Amino acid sequence: MMFGFVFVGGVVYSSFEPLVRADSLVVVNGRVAYVGSEDKALRIADTLGLNVIDLRGRVVMPGFIDSHAHLDSLGISLNSLDLRGVDSIEELKRRLREYADRVRARWVYGRGWDQELFREGRWPSRFDLDSVINDRPVALVRVCGHAAVLNTKALELSGLLNSRDPDVVRDERGEPTGVVVERTLDRVRELINESYTVSDYEDFILSAMRYAASLGVTTIGFVSVNLRSLQALVNLESKLGALPIRVRVYLNPEDHGVNVIDLLRQLGVRRGFGSEYLRINGIKVIADGSLGARTAWLSRPYNDEPGNSGRLNYDKDTLLRIARESDEAGLQLAIHGIGDATIDLILDIYEGLGGTSRLRHRIEHASVLREDLIRRIGRLGAVVAVQPHFVVSDWWVIDRVGVERARYVYPFRTLVNAGARVGFSTDAPVEPLNPFETVYAAVTRGRYENIELLRYTENETLSVREALHLYTCGSAYLLHEENHVCRLEPGYLADFIVLDKDPLGVDDRELREMKVLETYVGGVRVYPAD
Ligand code: ZN
Repeated sequence: MMFGFVFVGGVVYSSFEPLVRADSLVVVNGRVAYVGSEDKALRIADTLGLNVIDLRGRVVMPGFIDSHAHLDSLGISLNSLDLRGVDSIEELKRRLREYADRVRARWVYGRGWDQELFREGRWPSRFDLDSVINDRPVALVRVCGHAAVLNTKALELSGLLNSRDPDVVRDERGEPTGVVVERTLDRVRELINESYTVSDYEDFILSAMRYAASLGVTTIGFVSVNLRSLQALVNLESKLGALPIRVRVYLNPEDHGVNVIDLLRQLGVRRGFGSEYLRINGIKVIADGSLGARTAWLSRPYNDEPGNSGRLNYDKDTLLRIARESDEAGLQLAIHGIGDATIDLILDIYEGLGGTSRLRHRIEHASVLREDLIRRIGRLGAVVAVQPHFVVSDWWVIDRVGVERARYVYPFRTLVNAGARVGFSTDAPVEPLNPFETVYAAVTRGRYENIELLRYTENETLSVREALHLYTCGSAYLLHEENHVCRLEPGYLADFIVLDKDPLGVDDRELREMKVLETYVGGVRVYPAD
């Protein structure tokens, strides 16, 4: 049985490096059968009896590959109650009621309210929430992420109703108002995450995958995966037959006391185990923190906090043991390193493992580099997952690192020139999943937002063609997929998108407005869904 179709009458980019442009595409049984001239494509259509579809000048390119994103957190954030811009407590209550009727997760979770906008001129209280829901716990996080209002049920479940925790705000009579802040809020968040069942994760991850498809992302490197999320993915694949997009999994090294590396070793699960849609690649380790919180580990103190150089999240021996065990078990490592001291250590570890060529051990973020580190990364041919949108979001980064270190902050072009294998990603939901936001950031580096870093790293901007290459084949290499997806060449899986405009033809300011009209995975249209 032959299943397929022929696209003619448009522009088809089959590769961005080298740049290959054709005017038609033939897909047969989920794979690319031919890319080239319209005459030949029409002859193939005739011979095989395939449908011919007129692109009417629209543009086809390989689907985007996001090498580092958190599908579960993204799904949670997509499914949470969005309270941004709400202008009264009454409106907040109305939205809460509507949302709680619709979403079945045990905890009712929302975010984005700001009491400064409320007509009532006061903070919301647990009694406001109780009047809407008193039998399920509710937590609504303020727009800043550092405070939340809980209903009485949530305070009870968190053990906060009668505690003397200073992070629990009280009224003049000493009664908790429902507002909790900082560390206590973090604990509540953990409690909420613990409450999610495998079936909740199925809902979250499926909606995140559909959202990805709508933005033209056809493969995701899903990092920091817990065992419940993995089970949700396996369940979804068996229920649906095929996932909407392809997912490559990097598990947490430990989950509720389970040594995940050891578990995989005992099962004989090595990198590459799985299907075309769902595959286990390896282990993700978060070795240091972030520049925003000044917890990324730097070799010299923070410019705006002289006593602090950040820190490693593990002791070195533990990190080394995890790396050695993963490597021996045939699992690819993805180690989060933002500060230069951490990246230094990761390189020591990878050199100690005898290089990165076989499993392609990855460095995640690699934000603050040095000339010597870039040389070592190049020599090792190490693979690096970068997030160009950080350039725009971390507009304060010069405050943290000072001008002297700025030259090697997010130095994408220098990394590529040094021989590093670079893949693009978003770290969604940390940064927006929309690939064109990232392409825009890589190409402009904040030129139109007056980002100070640009002044020191002007030479690090990339062309649109280079950015699209790193977002397809660059990312595919990190995921060991460069021979399966990322190009539209005969034999490759037919993962591609249809765009309203030619990304190589628009003004750089227009890049973020690019629209994905259709998304195909394995020759099947996954967006828009029928
Ligand atoms: Zn991340």
